[in-house]
Amino acid sequence: MSVTPEHYAEIFRRFQAPISKVYNCGLKCAPLNGGEPVCCDSGHAIPIVEHSEYKLLSSRTDMWHKYVPKSAAEKAEVADLKGSDCRAVECNGAAHCERDNRSLACRSFPFFPYFNAEKELVGLSYYWTFEGLCWVISNITIVEKPFIRQFLDIHEYLFKADDNWRETYIQQSATMRGVYSRKNERFPVVTRDGAYFWVLPKSGGKMVKATKAELAKLKKRWNPDKAA
Ligand code: SF4
Ligand code: SF4
Repeated sequence: MSVTPEHYAEIFRRFQAPISKVYNCGLKCAPLNGGEPVCCDSGHAIPIVEHSEYKLLSSRTDMWHKYVPKSAAEKAEVADLKGSDCRAVECNGAAHCERDNRSLACRSFPFFPYFNAEKELVGLSYYWTFEGLCWVISNITIVEKPFIRQFLDIHEYLFKADDNWRETYIQQSATMRGVYSRKNERFPVVTRDGAYFWVLPKSGGKMVKATKAELAKLKKRWNPDKAA
């Protein structure tokens, strides 16, 4: 089965919680990125959506359009998508953002569903290439339970519609373990109940409880100069 526009409509209906009601993280990173939140700046991340998601979005709003690559690297990235279920798109910018018409990637960023080495969905981890750039990654304890609950609920719904997505994130999780093992660093995972664990490097994915004091040290990794 594939993910239809109707599935995406249901995903959008069920996934509306912000990461935090207390913090507006865009106000943290945007001033250091020319006024545009890092995750809304296609110079940092080209939005990729499924054709079916784009079909739904196009029926609801004019704020999305086809992405026109600017550099050779971007052209290659977009060309790689040819023949796949996905396409590169761009919105009209943060000043024109329609909250109800954000893509699934917008709603999820910077997180992806994390699967342990036993291929069990245990929680959320993040797109590590945005470490230093995304304020949320350095302040991961701001994530609130409604966001965690809705994030996992709609991803489980997505996996039922198309198991390829589960495989994609199982692979993504394994890649993250490999990246951090090579760096000999641990990385955090937020579990279903809002607890925090470290995934230890070179351990086969072993997870141990993270303390608040340890997680607070992640704040030092925020390096907005990276965005400049
Ligand atoms: S999710 Fe990260 S990159 Fe996006 S607005 Fe918030 S802090 Fe900035
Ligand atoms: S739709 Fe909104 S949240 Fe998504 S990239 Fe555009 S401005 Fe950012």
